[in-house]
Amino acid sequence: MTSPRKTQRRTGVARILLGPHPSEFAPPRPTGHRYRCGACLTTYGPATTLRGAHDLRAEHRRKKHGGGVPDGEEIMSPPPLRLRDIRTSDIVGSVVVFAVLAILIYVRNF
Ligand SMILES: [Zn+2]
Repeated sequence: MTSPRKTQRRTGVARILLGPHPSEFAPPRPTGHRYRCGACLTTYGPATTLRGAHDLRAEHRRKKHGGGVPDGEEIMSPPPLRLRDIRTSDIVGSVVVFAVLAILIYVRNF
């Protein structure tokens, strides 16, 4: 049995030279919508839109189940994006770019 992965943290010179340890990064968010057929135990996708996942479902139903509805099928969607999912560095970078652009526009107009 494997134990859950522990997060390691680099400190001091190791952090400066090597940056954060890869285990410090959050796992990637699941993207796209997926269709899972409970009868075939197969997952299709990802589709970029919910409509795309519905199209995958309709195509699978038609090709593999003669248009019938298999038991246990589901459409899995990624969780909604929350503000805390956005890295602080991305927020700071966006604010800095916006501020620079606003200053440039202000200076050019006067
Ligand atoms: Zn199926």
